[in-house]
Amino acid sequence: MTRTLENYIGGSWVRSSGTTLLDVKNPATGEVLAQVPLSTAGDVDQAVQAAKAAFPAWRATPPAVRARYLFKLREIFDGRRDEIAAICTSEHGKTLSESRNDFGRGVENVEHAAGIPTLMMGQNLEDVSGGIDCQTVRQPMGVFAAITPFNFPPMVPLWFLPYAIATGNTFVLKPSEQVPLTQRRIFELIHEHLGLPPGVVNLVNGGKDVVNGICTHRDVVGVSFVGSSAVAQHVYKTCGETGKRVQALGGAKNFILVTPDAERERSVANLSESIYGCSGQRCLAGSVVVGIGEAYDWVRDSLLAAAKAVVLGDGSKPGVTMGPVVSAAAKDRILSYIEKGVQEGAKLILDGRGATVEGCPDGNWIGPCIFEDVRPEMVIAKEEIFGPVACLMRAQSLDEAIELANRSPYGNAASLYTSNGKHAREFSHRIEAGMVGVNIGVAAPMAFFPFGGQKASFFGDIKAHGPTAIDFYTERKIVITRWF
Ligand code: NAD
Repeated sequence: MTRTLENYIGGSWVRSSGTTLLDVKNPATGEVLAQVPLSTAGDVDQAVQAAKAAFPAWRATPPAVRARYLFKLREIFDGRRDEIAAICTSEHGKTLSESRNDFGRGVENVEHAAGIPTLMMGQNLEDVSGGIDCQTVRQPMGVFAAITPFNFPPMVPLWFLPYAIATGNTFVLKPSEQVPLTQRRIFELIHEHLGLPPGVVNLVNGGKDVVNGICTHRDVVGVSFVGSSAVAQHVYKTCGETGKRVQALGGAKNFILVTPDAERERSVANLSESIYGCSGQRCLAGSVVVGIGEAYDWVRDSLLAAAKAVVLGDGSKPGVTMGPVVSAAAKDRILSYIEKGVQEGAKLILDGRGATVEGCPDGNWIGPCIFEDVRPEMVIAKEEIFGPVACLMRAQSLDEAIELANRSPYGNAASLYTSNGKHAREFSHRIEAGMVGVNIGVAAPMAFFPFGGQKASFFGDIKAHGPTAIDFYTERKIVITRWF
């Protein structure tokens, strides 16, 4: 019998009150792995009340003691990297090595947050006026929530949970309803081995009713969101109306620029991985490649060769380098973009639409695709496709290429391949993107640096992880003291 997932509230697994169940499917085989309930605002309230009740004792727990839970969590995770990677691959489709990296990047946030006794220190200054001292202290605020997307099932929730609880807040997670199994297992591990006080972390499965329940709940003080820009903007607005702190990370359309003097072989290998890794379903994935001057022809030819060498298949199988896309709906959306590109007159020089994988007739397969002669006004040049599709554009100069990239409404990431330091400097300085790569195709900041884009890719002011996580999860209080 297919199991139905439960919510984790106040230290126990509880049935959702939602009556609608969605199938969680393996995108390579179509096998139904579980059913996930669409929980209700009532379930959200139950989780928030549990988190609220746990807050006073948890905030009074010394930071060094809270840090010890994170050391322990890191050890628990370390022994289960393969297990979590296998679950991630089964529900998301990415290859096992991609899943291991996905979880590894998440665990690095647990490691970073374990430094909370020093990360959370304030500042002080003696004699701000005669005999008067001033200090800032950082204090936890209450119940925080995170709402996460399908594309990094272990990592994205771990951008938030470790910092929220390290700083003394309590936490509610709403994982993506498309990939709830990885977080189910992570919360089982927390439940069985970590010994956290009940209510410090909670999990509510579901979709938009849970999101809206969180964003309008008066006892939630702050919300982290990661997903598409339309929903990010909705979350940002709704949280603003109810006076919450919010960081909402949105969608992307990442440009990769290549100058003629770039190192050919390694640049193209790296940019091909950026475009086709995780089947193009990374928020940092390269999407539009701008070949500058004579770079255009060799970039096209080498990218074509690299794309043809991609091995499509079930991500759990050895030798496979690209898995399926996450769902039949995602496949339909990507196919409709490809159709649109053809209609708009772009030249489809590699067509992955008919791709099949032997033994997996029910997988959501799309092979690597490449469009050339893409013009900036085309829909495929402007909108997020979120699949294995490269759009090639020409520019005559670096200036023109930067201008093309800066026309995008998005500003998540951008990369330049070059051997020229002046060009690299010019690009980093002028490009309108929050995360910039120079000879790096996936410019993903490590846990100890902030993560987030600009323009339509980010709504808010305090970015995720790194030192900014401590800013997001604490209130700074100023204490001015004079002793008579
Ligand atoms: P999505 O926006 O469909 O879903 C994200 C979350 O929002 C999920 O938990 C979902 O349940 C919820 N949701 C969906 N529709 C909603 C609605 N109408 N009202 C309220 N809540 C809703 O995104 P996705 O398809 O899961 O993930 C892919 C998107 O996430 C891409 O756009 C990608 O670029 C983006 N992403 C961005 C970053 C970043 O750092 N900027 C990182 C990862 C993914």
